[in-house]
Amino acid sequence: MEPRDIDGDLTEILIEEEQIRDRLAELSRRIEDDYAGKDLLLVGVLKGAVMVMADLARELKHPIAMDWMAVSSYGSGTASSGVVRILKDLDTDLTGRHVLIVEDIIDSGLTLSWLLANLNSRGPASVEICALLRKPEAARVEIDVKYVGFEIPNQFVVGYGLDYAEKYRNLRSVGVLASHVYAPVEP
Ligand code: 5GP
Repeated sequence: MEPRDIDGDLTEILIEEEQIRDRLAELSRRIEDDYAGKDLLLVGVLKGAVMVMADLARELKHPIAMDWMAVSSYGSGTASSGVVRILKDLDTDLTGRHVLIVEDIIDSGLTLSWLLANLNSRGPASVEICALLRKPEAARVEIDVKYVGFEIPNQFVVGYGLDYAEKYRNLRSVGVLASHVYAPVEP
């Protein structure tokens, strides 16, 4: 198959690279204020949060710590099951730590509410959430998300860490995938 240009697989760009950069800078200033004088641990959720974690962390002026978790939330297809499995746990003891979970997107919220309960059970001083994207229409559970980058419509998006079948994470912006990608027309 011929390699295609990534933009040809999108119907629209929802959020441009510059908008993401500006918004992360704003959120970073708030985070710096809120955690002034505190020792902050960013917990990134693999793999989708890799880009937002890297850019957010570099915006922050404080010497923060970073750790990673990998969880699986989707059994099959694109609907969240609420069944979460830890694929890679943290290396860090959370006792007495101020934890900020860094997520790419909150869809149903089921993955995050499970993660929140899991991390809270480890004796941290606090646990808050920073998510680049949130789909308000899809929320099935109420979660208090302290830092949200953008509210987006209930569409399947890719880019800036978010994948479809492990591709498109390298797109610099966030876009909506064209249907020919996941439902190719038969020749
Ligand atoms: P939730 O449990 O909130 O429904 O699912 C959260 C996870 O589902 C996200 O971390 C992400 O991996 C995946 N997800 C939800 N919506 C989208 C989307 O629009 N695009 C992509 N690429 N992944 C999504």
